[in-house]
Amino acid sequence: MALTKDFQVAIVGGGIAGLTLAIALHARNINVTVYERAAAFGEIGAGVSFTPNAVEAMKVCHAGVFDAFERVCTLVSSPEKRKAGVFFDYVKGYDPALGPGEMPKIEFTIRSAYGQNAVHRAHFLDELVKLLPAQAARFGKGLTSVKQVGEEVEMFFEDGTTARADVVIGCDGIKSRVRRSMFGDDAPCAYPSYTHKYAYRGLIPIEKAKAALGDDLGGNAFMHLGPNGHLLTFPVAHGKTLNVVAFHQDDGEWPDSERLTRQGTRAQALKDFEGWSPAVQALLSMCDETLSVWAIFDLANPAPSFSIGRVAISGDAAHATSPHHGAGAGFCIEDAAVLATLLADPASTRETLPTVLEAYDAARRERGHWLVESSRHLGRMYDWQESMGSDMAAIHADLEERYKIIYGDGADAMCDAAREELKKRL
Ligand SMILES: Cc1cc2nc3c(=O)[nH]c(=O)nc-3n(C[C@H](O)[C@H](O)[C@H](O)COP(=O)(O)OP(=O)(O)OC[C@H]3O[C@@H](n4cnc5c(N)ncnc54)[C@H](O)[C@@H]3O)c2cc1C
Repeated sequence: MALTKDFQVAIVGGGIAGLTLAIALHARNINVTVYERAAAFGEIGAGVSFTPNAVEAMKVCHAGVFDAFERVCTLVSSPEKRKAGVFFDYVKGYDPALGPGEMPKIEFTIRSAYGQNAVHRAHFLDELVKLLPAQAARFGKGLTSVKQVGEEVEMFFEDGTTARADVVIGCDGIKSRVRRSMFGDDAPCAYPSYTHKYAYRGLIPIEKAKAALGDDLGGNAFMHLGPNGHLLTFPVAHGKTLNVVAFHQDDGEWPDSERLTRQGTRAQALKDFEGWSPAVQALLSMCDETLSVWAIFDLANPAPSFSIGRVAISGDAAHATSPHHGAGAGFCIEDAAVLATLLADPASTRETLPTVLEAYDAARRERGHWLVESSRHLGRMYDWQESMGSDMAAIHADLEERYKIIYGDGADAMCDAAREELKKRL
């Protein structure tokens, strides 16, 4: 197929952001190469769920991305919850009024067009990789820096090699080297920040959880809120296992920002959640004796721009967020949809590329920064640290407004607005 553009795009990093963008550009017959540090594309084995805005953005990127999602996605909640589009049911995880063994009542529900879906990251990535020709990827290419040289951008790699392209998009995650190159090693946005929350992650055979908590609480997606912590559950492995993630406030510092996980114990988790509801105690008691603990980092010092000249950042490189909205990966795919739309626009040429990237920045920066901020707010609100404290009705009202923003007006409208922005700027 003949190329549609006179320029070459380089993408640094092949996670969800980089791969969806590469697929979207390749599908539009634009010359694209992905430079990935690892020896192959790969993701950690954890699950990820997608909000409806993300699913719409997949369709804009390429029908194959949506098909890949459909192939690997499991709608894991019970049939009644699926029918009602339940994303999460919310309960009090801390309630001194509950008697021994008494289960909490549902306070409110947040819904989503795709209900509670679970995608195994590695399986999704495997499907995405099939949509990209092998020659579009270079592995073992850890980028150290980028430099604009005339009308081109030069990339420098850890193995001493270099490469050039007309435009470089950094999709190299929360510790992005592209972002550091753009703003300098001393810029506040060069490094991620600890949100002062960590999370224990555990798995329970679902039949065991149901026997202890009942079919609903033990088998579906729930959010248990309380003081200085919250615990969420959702089924994984086609409903055979209940995934438990228990977030807790940490007033100290995380010891090593290079290593974002450490080994913890069930005993420590039970101590952190001492005095919480019988349901929370039971859930933690059913987890393995050793649990992994994840430090929650984000990009609290926002990047002043998502583009400088012919270099841009996308995905976590641009707006790494804490996971409380469950929307970080979805926003990566929105970025890819907007970038691909703009780069494929008839007005996009080798000469106009800096303006194209400015239009991308204008279309995406405010929304990206909002997600990081809003997600931090959710982390505090779920931990009863915001002004509404434990007022569940006020928490519900606040959440509904925020999810309206996340679901938005649809990916097509977002891309149309970005195209208009480009027109204005040219
Ligand atoms: C606990 C947790 C739960 C989450 N749950 C959800 C959820 O349910 N739903 C959701 O939408 N989001 C969720 N997220 C957020 C989501 O995981 C991220 O937003 C998303 O995976 C980021 O993708 P990315 O491609 O931008 O970055 P990454 O996945 O970090 O990929 C970056 C890629 O770049 C490569 N790379 C890095 N540095 C270099 C370099 N110097 N040179 C070359 N290559 C490089 C890496 O090897 C990697 O392949 C969650 C996050 C966490 C921490």
